[in-house]
Amino acid sequence: MMNILVINCGSSSLKYQLIDMDEEKVLAKGLSERIGIEGSRIKHTTAGKEEVVIEKPMSDHKEVLEIVLKTLVDPTHGAIKSMDEINAVGHRVVHGGEKFANSIKIDDEVMDALNECIDLAPLHNPPNIMGIEACKELMPDTPMVAVFDTAFHQTMPKSNFIYPLPYELYEKYGIRKYGFHGTSHKYVSSKAAEMLNKDIKDLNIVTCHLGNGASICAVEKGKSIDTSMGFTPLAGLAMGTRSGDIDPAIIPFLVEKENLSMEEVNNLLNKESGVLGISGVSSDFRDIEEAAEEGNERAKLALDVFVNKVKKYIGAYTVLMGEVDVIVFTAGIGENSVEIREMVCEGLENLGIELDKEKNNVRGKEALVNKDTSKVKVLVIPTNEELMIAKDTQELA
Ligand code: AMP
Repeated sequence: MMNILVINCGSSSLKYQLIDMDEEKVLAKGLSERIGIEGSRIKHTTAGKEEVVIEKPMSDHKEVLEIVLKTLVDPTHGAIKSMDEINAVGHRVVHGGEKFANSIKIDDEVMDALNECIDLAPLHNPPNIMGIEACKELMPDTPMVAVFDTAFHQTMPKSNFIYPLPYELYEKYGIRKYGFHGTSHKYVSSKAAEMLNKDIKDLNIVTCHLGNGASICAVEKGKSIDTSMGFTPLAGLAMGTRSGDIDPAIIPFLVEKENLSMEEVNNLLNKESGVLGISGVSSDFRDIEEAAEEGNERAKLALDVFVNKVKKYIGAYTVLMGEVDVIVFTAGIGENSVEIREMVCEGLENLGIELDKEKNNVRGKEALVNKDTSKVKVLVIPTNEELMIAKDTQELA
């Protein structure tokens, strides 16, 4: 039996899943929030048992992990008898820079390299590293693997990842497109090939990861050749609260006119923009769709802006790959919003994309949603980054 613990640490959160790899079954999972601040808690569920909520002050990720591990082996709430039943740990790491094109087994050298990547992702990598450090202390003999959001996109050709800036800035600071959500794009593209019973090497796929953070990827013959996120996850599509691509000259303009600091501009672009900024309603597509239906013009506008950008990427990536065989919708919006999928595919018949409105009436499960006559296959595939991380971990550990 092979059990893998998958860990995903944010600055004040920790998500985990214990997966039995023989059955690809989640034995237990949970989420800890508000780590280090008032009201910290863990919500834990073991398969077939009731959810438990543990509420007590937890000052850091190590303290949380200690409780998580205790809960996993707890005779009443737990899923396993002892820690020995955790064979390996897989860690999600946001940024691997140019150093990591694949997942890697963690050793001291890897830890040094991860620390060197902090500059590239100052918000995301430090909590990831904290999670790894905590695990190393609590389970020193268990092998661990790092799985990077950026790794899948390391196959992009230079012509697609270099920004039109002075080339020295790339050499000096590594300023280039990296792309994110790689684990998800990789998972759904290989799942698409599996669903269609095709070799991924014979397919050109556009994967649309549309969630609170959103990105699109051109997967040519199994390899990422371009993606919409960039140096950071702020680029590309309009998102829940992130602006995505805007004219960069807006930034100095705002700094001057609104007298904003760089931190304030950063906050505006990351937290107050996107569909929230346009609609003024919410960052959640369910709320925006509801408001649009009730006639709220700015909510409608937000949906149209979002959808037009998705369409443009589908067009661009079709051109980049010469042709496209498959479009995949995944993540919160891609998996669940019948309306957004319909809006995206509308008018794309000339590209060979014909959505079947009835088949498209699905939420949260794998489905083929194109008409039989459609040249391009359109698929809904729930993403499963945890399983992908666990698979890489199993392979390397
Ligand atoms: P994710 O980041 O992948 O968890 O996606 C979260 C987003 O998915 C939420 O902000 C919602 O906007 C969206 N979402 C979830 N369920 C639905 C739904 N039934 N209809 C429309 N949007 C949804």
